[in-house]
Amino acid sequence: MTTEADVIVAGAGPGGSATAHYLAREGFHVIALEKARFPREKVCGDGLTPRAVRELDYMGIDYPESEGWIRSKGLRMIGGGHRLEFPWQELESFPNFGLSLPRDSFDQRLAEHARASGADVREGHAVTDVIRDEKTGRIAGVKVRHVNDQGRKVGAEEEFRAPLVVAADGVSARLALGEGRERKPRPMGVAVRRYMRTDRHEEPWMEGHLEIWSGKRGESDLLPGYGWIFPLGDGTANVGLGTLSARGKPSGLDHRALLEDWLQHSVEDWGFEPVEESRTLGAAIPMAFNRGPHYRDGLALVGDSGGMVNPFNGEGIAYAMQAARTLAEAAVLAREARTALEAEKAYLSYPRMLRRDLGGYFTLGRIFASLVEHPLVMRMCTKYGLPRHHVMWFTHKLLADVYEPRGGDWADRTLATLARVAPRA
Ligand SMILES: Cc1cc2nc3c(=O)[nH]c(=O)nc-3n(C[C@H](O)[C@H](O)[C@H](O)COP(=O)(O)OP(=O)(O)OC[C@H]3O[C@@H](n4cnc5c(N)ncnc54)[C@H](O)[C@@H]3O)c2cc1C
Repeated sequence: MTTEADVIVAGAGPGGSATAHYLAREGFHVIALEKARFPREKVCGDGLTPRAVRELDYMGIDYPESEGWIRSKGLRMIGGGHRLEFPWQELESFPNFGLSLPRDSFDQRLAEHARASGADVREGHAVTDVIRDEKTGRIAGVKVRHVNDQGRKVGAEEEFRAPLVVAADGVSARLALGEGRERKPRPMGVAVRRYMRTDRHEEPWMEGHLEIWSGKRGESDLLPGYGWIFPLGDGTANVGLGTLSARGKPSGLDHRALLEDWLQHSVEDWGFEPVEESRTLGAAIPMAFNRGPHYRDGLALVGDSGGMVNPFNGEGIAYAMQAARTLAEAAVLAREARTALEAEKAYLSYPRMLRRDLGGYFTLGRIFASLVEHPLVMRMCTKYGLPRHHVMWFTHKLLADVYEPRGGDWADRTLATLARVAPRA
């Protein structure tokens, strides 16, 4: 059986649902194929910076407290005996608050929004392969199998065909791999999280701990990474930690053990008790455009499948949604094209726009990742950086990627200049 559409999107996480929403809103016939059924668990910190809130605003998604959304008023950074609070600022380009919502609810909400915009979001549909047009060599669609309630693939393979296929299937990047997209030696994170009960579940700060130790507490045992506590307002907090490898090499670290050690020694003031039904789960985080090209021969990559995660902080939701918005721009241009060549040029503007908007900042992130890999640099940063307010003022903007791209204060202007002059990743 073959189904035709204007666009097929593989995966309905934030990247896939945002893509489906934007393209459906533009009048495209979009089918998004999601192997899971919502609500489904997704390993994540559940934290949204103002950058991600801005993307929700662009999509027209509201975030009422009654649906479980909780606002944060800033970032608290802890390390080297210091504890600093940086409220999200009043900026022209960003809202002055962050949000948290567990991913099972968040992703369902986004998928529903895509449906409301006119996209056909089909759950329980696993994409198994790409279909290539033998004459042109272009990707012409995908092969799909149904997934039953037990998570098993059942029934015969079906074909879904469209002139544009979007791989939004997350870090597994099955489609990109199937099509032979290159993986580059770029930063890669590994992170684990679990839900914990705490009386401080309504605290309006996203807390980041800049010291993660590899078991012992010597200077050389400081790891490149951070721990987080994101209160969820429902009696619990999302608690986790992640480490960074500058060129994506496996670190061999036992992240579950690191998390247990950190929970025992560094965050006593939260009075954590485990949520019985919550397991410690982890995943890799592909960063700084570690896979590409982001468009070729009818297949576009959005979100984790194209490594669109911020190497400074491991945030990927905002960038997946931003990429979706950018891809929709390119698809509209392609639809207006008069020839196939013109349409292809329009699609090729997608990777160019991504590099223009994020490439410089991601390059800074790559430099940061290779520096903090050295325990001495981490030590110097926590020892000499944390006590200096102006250094940390700059650093919190840099880490969160929330700064005014034009104008703003000295830190905004410095960051904007650095991101502009850095070679685009
Ligand atoms: C421990 C941890 C903590 C994190 N914390 C944060 C955080 O606090 N804030 C933040 O912004 N980012 C965080 N991230 C990163 C963030 O989770 C990802 O960047 C984000 O989910 C990327 O969205 P996506 O849509 O590209 O991929 P995903 O969210 O992974 O969605 C991909 C979707 O595709 C589906 N899929 C996969 N394969 C197929 C297939 N073959 N057929 C059909 N469907 C398929 C999956 O079921 C899934 O629904 C964290 C990551 C980890 C591992």
